Amino acid sequence: MTDALHDPDPAALATLALHGGGARPAPTDPVSPAIITASSFHADPASIGFSAAALEGAPPPFYARWGNPTVALLEERLALLEQGAGAVAFASGMAAVAALFLARLKAGDHLIVSNVCYAGVAELAHDLLPRHGIAVSAVDTSDLAALEAAIRPGQTRLIHIETPANPILRLTDIAAAAAIAHAAGAELSVDSTIATPVATRPLVLGADHVIHSLTKYLCGHGDTLGGAVISRDAAALRSLRTDSLIHYGATLSPFSAWLILRGLETLTLRMRQHEENARAVADFLQSHPAVERVLWPGLAQGPQADLARRQMQNFSGLLSFVIKGDGAALAQRMAENLRRIAYAVSLGKTKSLIFHIPTEELLASSFHLQGKAAQDYRDVAGRGVFRLSVGLEDATDLIRDLEAVL
Ligand SMILES: *Cc1c(COP(=O)(O)O)cnc(C)c1O
Repeated sequence: MTDALHDPDPAALATLALHGGGARPAPTDPVSPAIITASSFHADPASIGFSAAALEGAPPPFYARWGNPTVALLEERLALLEQGAGAVAFASGMAAVAALFLARLKAGDHLIVSNVCYAGVAELAHDLLPRHGIAVSAVDTSDLAALEAAIRPGQTRLIHIETPANPILRLTDIAAAAAIAHAAGAELSVDSTIATPVATRPLVLGADHVIHSLTKYLCGHGDTLGGAVISRDAAALRSLRTDSLIHYGATLSPFSAWLILRGLETLTLRMRQHEENARAVADFLQSHPAVERVLWPGLAQGPQADLARRQMQNFSGLLSFVIKGDGAALAQRMAENLRRIAYAVSLGKTKSLIFHIPTEELLASSFHLQGKAAQDYRDVAGRGVFRLSVGLEDATDLIRDLEAVL
């Protein structure tokens, strides 16, 4: 387990993804992690009580909603990859986000959330949290002056950003946002699902919590859901485990943890290839006459290229593009005619996925943006973006696939 925020050589990431966490193996121990599916474990009456309040730190195997050895190994590995004090795994990315919000905020508190982020997170923040007496402001967190202006002294407890932000890949400066949060006595949480620890380590840049939808790149194969919160503070993690796993019960299954551990083994290798393929596809799209605009942090001429180079060691494989013509008609042609790229939601798996996200629908149903904020979004996304999660197929085949429908 990590004892402090250390700063290993970045080259160690590939090794940690394979070996991080767990006890030193003894002869006859399996070389690959075992799945332990038991829901309860033999207990020592002298050392463990019955109630959640008796738990200190990562609990010994006791009851699987509290923790499980296979899930615990995943948590240790994630903590090492993100250089946190520990991690708590959840049944999905949304469970991780909801758990963090409910653990760190109470009635009367104020949350600032990126005004462009995963639709489910936007809906949770705007539609559900106010029912619990939590005030929420949506801000373009790429604009640091706007972020600072949105702070309510003494009331703002958490700033939640997503960088790159789904679906227009807008970046927020993590170190600067952390400084603004801390000056106001608030915490910063970063949804780093699209970046992965291969690109960015938000805790090292000053964030307090990192969130991953493990469903995406960390699992990488599109065959399970999962989520995690990794934090710099062990006490915050303890309360997250008690509140969210023991009392809300959104525990990750050991089988899912095992699949994600397996996926992690190739994380650094996959991210290199996702980036290389995304670059080839982005170059093709940029030169295509039907394409109005390509959005990808790795574009040399992109509007946030300097921040991208400073904050990302890998530009990931998710890109979006806007076409000149009718998006709905192209979406239909894609669903019928693409041969390699699946017309499907989600991202970060070995296979390529594309999905059309119409602007007005997203603004009305999820982001609830109006006025200038809505116009800023339209200026980038037009009437809709095609979000393409570039997979690990040969890039030439992906380009051929797109060429046939564009
Ligand atoms: C997918 C995703 C989520 C939600 O994760 P699930 O595992 O689907 O619940 C949250 N944030 C981002 C950026 C995502 O891409």
